Amino acid sequence: MRSLCILWMLFFMQVTWAQRKAVFIILDGISADALEKTNTPFIDEIAAAGGYTRANTGGVKGSYNESPTISAPGYNHILTGTWSNKHNVWDNDIREPNYNYRNIFRIAEEHNPNLKTAIFSTWLDNRTKLIGDGLSQAGNIRIDYAFDGFELDEEKFPHDADKRYIFDIDEHVSKEAARYLLEHGPDLSWVYLEYTDDMGHRFGDSPEYTEAIQLADVQVGRIWRAIQQRMQQTGEEWMIVVTTDHGRDAATGKDHGGQSDRERTVWISTNLNKLNKRFGNGTASIDIMPSILRFMQIPLPEDLERELDGVPFIGRVSVANLRTQQEGKKIRLTWDVLDDSGDATILMSTTDYFRQGGVDVYKKIKKVKVADGTALVKSPQSSSGDYKFVLLVPFNSINNQFVDK
Ligand SMILES: [Zn+2]
Repeated sequence: MRSLCILWMLFFMQVTWAQRKAVFIILDGISADALEKTNTPFIDEIAAAGGYTRANTGGVKGSYNESPTISAPGYNHILTGTWSNKHNVWDNDIREPNYNYRNIFRIAEEHNPNLKTAIFSTWLDNRTKLIGDGLSQAGNIRIDYAFDGFELDEEKFPHDADKRYIFDIDEHVSKEAARYLLEHGPDLSWVYLEYTDDMGHRFGDSPEYTEAIQLADVQVGRIWRAIQQRMQQTGEEWMIVVTTDHGRDAATGKDHGGQSDRERTVWISTNLNKLNKRFGNGTASIDIMPSILRFMQIPLPEDLERELDGVPFIGRVSVANLRTQQEGKKIRLTWDVLDDSGDATILMSTTDYFRQGGVDVYKKIKKVKVADGTALVKSPQSSSGDYKFVLLVPFNSINNQFVDK
């Protein structure tokens, strides 16, 4: 009888497991104001089911984790839940990504190798360099289904100066994404579409750019309709996130890469309706990764949890935004309280071996109430001058690197 119960439990867990699936779509280079001014019925429809918020990218301006508002770094913030100082992607060359900050696909695959993953992308590097598909240093994971690399196929997609071929590839990619998601329902997918950024670079804020956003919305709609159909047919639960990688410059809208508000402001539209206080309150692009993992019920391994810069915008969360500041011979820690229940344990490490693939030893140095929002700790004796602080709280974890100048 008992073993029958366990069998039933296992069966039930499998069923529950299989039902939670996620897809995130990155539409390149759409500033929040441009999106909001443009008629985008599908992105709006997704938001109406869940929520829409502006969000920030680029790290904390002026701090150790400030990051360029450039495409590949922007995607990698989303994939890893960390900023450039950790994942080490600073531009579109993607020279030396630090794969120790494991991305969402690797975390999912290492959690359960039976999960099915997919990528539909108008840029090959997203899979081969950022995810590190098949690379030993990136954990040797394989994306189960990849539909990408068409920008290199000049026979099928001849390159024209107007970059219309990029739109054609986006069409090709989004149609296949819709077909594949409907027919096969992979557990975790990334769709990447590029044309909006090309029109932004070429025309800046213009009717052409607006039109590109509308065309991207239709492509999103294609995928959203496929998911809706699949949910209806299978009873699966799906989370869809539509976002962008960076905004655009204020003067013309042609450029990005800097730290202006417009370049740092992105946006998130999701169908998930159990959003917490973080959504719409300091939301950042790095929040997408832990939010999707939560939805899929995939726990973050402890070493990664301590490095994670994002805060999930679903489920319960305790705190956000840990800051450190020298105060005499001590260090002042402050944080934003999102749920004031429970204790906050402050951990500190005087090493950063994680960065090289090693293990840091954290010491418990103080315990206070989450609700306090602040604590004063002794300045540690360390030759390196860098300390990593982690705040362990009931519902999430945040960290900060204190640099002793
Ligand atoms: Zn971009």
